[in-house]
Amino acid sequence: MSSYKHILLAVDFYENCSAVNQRAKDLALKYQAKLSIIHVVDNLPLTDTGYGAEIPFNIDFTTELIANAKKQLARLGEELTIKEDQQWLEMGSPKTEIIRVAEENKVDLIVVGSHGRHGWALLLGSTANGVIHHAICDVLAVRLQEN
Ligand code: AMP
Repeated sequence: MSSYKHILLAVDFYENCSAVNQRAKDLALKYQAKLSIIHVVDNLPLTDTGYGAEIPFNIDFTTELIANAKKQLARLGEELTIKEDQQWLEMGSPKTEIIRVAEENKVDLIVVGSHGRHGWALLLGSTANGVIHHAICDVLAVRLQEN
């Protein structure tokens, strides 16, 4: 059986994600693998959506979103004993960024939750589904139940 060397845990900080975090930690211990974490701040279509839903005043939420995400990521990093240079905070599409960071850092296992913010209506959440379809390494989707 192959032994994983670098595991990437994708976190969305959704309420039930602690089971996903724990599974990634257990696997890292079992395989003596390096554990990294990634959170992607989703692009927000605040202006010029093309369907009239833009916010009519000029507020930049991005700085605040990033600052909050950084704090959450650092907190989780501390909890899972993950060094700062193994904590990835990216912006853009979660699926694309998770796959890019995994490839650039020779990750051999990505751990995601089966569902998060985007998709109890689906068999798999959209991020989990996208990562499973496009990653070149193994992907573990930890089965989560709806609360
Ligand atoms: P979803 O596609 O929203 O149902 O989420 C499924 C899983 O994808 C989550 O449990 C996370 O593991 C991962 N995920 C979703 N959104 C993000 C994000 N913004 N950053 C990192 N991982 C994410």
